[in-house]
Amino acid sequence: MSDSPGAVRVERRDAVLSVVLERPRKRNALDAAMLAALDRAIEDADGDASVRVLVLRAAGEHFCAGFDLGTVDPDELVEDRYRREREQLFERALRLREVGKPTIASVQGACVAAGLLISQMCDLVIAAGDAFFYDPLPRMGGVGLELLIQPWDIGVRRAKRYLFTGDRIPARDALELGMITDLVAPERLREASDELADRVAAMPPVTLSLLKRSLNRTQDIMGMRDALEQHFALHEFGHATQESRALLHAAREGRPLKEYFERRDEGDL
Ligand code: ZN
Repeated sequence: MSDSPGAVRVERRDAVLSVVLERPRKRNALDAAMLAALDRAIEDADGDASVRVLVLRAAGEHFCAGFDLGTVDPDELVEDRYRREREQLFERALRLREVGKPTIASVQGACVAAGLLISQMCDLVIAAGDAFFYDPLPRMGGVGLELLIQPWDIGVRRAKRYLFTGDRIPARDALELGMITDLVAPERLREASDELADRVAAMPPVTLSLLKRSLNRTQDIMGMRDALEQHFALHEFGHATQESRALLHAAREGRPLKEYFERRDEGDL
């Protein structure tokens, strides 16, 4: 399967619009162009009254391996990184959360880092049994993702359990934790995603848009928006620490980080 030029494709089926990440050879790793294309596709869908449900899918074996680290300058200035991550990730992620119609992430294989972030911004998450959810940032010297959704999705203590160990969350556990809403056999993911989208699309659209707004505002009133802002500031500070910069250099070179993880997993670190 080849990668499409924009690496984001839009598919329409009745009232359901799917935005498909299409860079399977790179496990749909996101770069600046892809994030911009995704943002545009989502904005167009939001402005199209005939679209009742937005589905985010991915081509190939994996949903998304995260941000393409090969496109990041490890010596990027702190202030440049702050502006880039705020515009590229933080604000766009919140726009996805605030889309005025229901959104569904349909996830298979790896759902990692920025890919995890995108899936967490969707209202419903349907996953194949082979999916896993993973925030690798703490292992790489990052203070979690740019938006810390885990405490809202799975509770503070369980968020600590996964973030403090760098463990992956398999799909079955993600269902129990409430991170995802539906779990299906891998071969049924497409069909089950379509069925779920059709059921939501058959609901009264204005009502759902108001319900979604109320549910999101409820989280905001509980402090989610302020909590995300304070986390983003610490996340950015975290990028500037000596530990974080050393690990980012290592991640780009590959070798030392692998050694670091092997030693860590053997209990040496
Ligand atoms: Zn960051």
